[in-house]
Amino acid sequence: MNDCLFCKIVAGIIPSTKVYEDETVLAFRDIAPMAPTHILVIPKAHIPDAASVTPENSAVVAHIFEVIGEIAKSEGLDEGFRVVSNCGAHAGQTVHHLHFHILGGRQLTLEMA
Ligand code: AMP
Repeated sequence: MNDCLFCKIVAGIIPSTKVYEDETVLAFRDIAPMAPTHILVIPKAHIPDAASVTPENSAVVAHIFEVIGEIAKSEGLDEGFRVVSNCGAHAGQTVHHLHFHILGGRQLTLEMA
């Protein structure tokens, strides 16, 4: 086991509030929500960030976006939502396991949330 927080969530070593799970993808509620609905969608396999997506691992990213649409429907985000993936220091990425924030449930500003 590496020292990655989200790999530990995938392994069940650290608890999470799961919203969706299948063979390759996990979604759970952000521990510090920045909007009424704030969910993180991650590949179960460790990919560090958006800059590390390659032809070999990109299929899971397409699948994540299918899952994002399903979650948005089930969460009732009919008025819209935002998808954010921070990559690297300038973006303020704090967990170095690829993840997509789903933010919604209120009018969002031009800031991240
Ligand atoms: P980022 O800053 O884009 O890397 O996003 C990391 C996100 O992970 C932040 O929004 C944190 O609030 C969230 N986070 C950190 N630890 C946990 C945890 N144990 N469970 C759920 N979300 C977490």
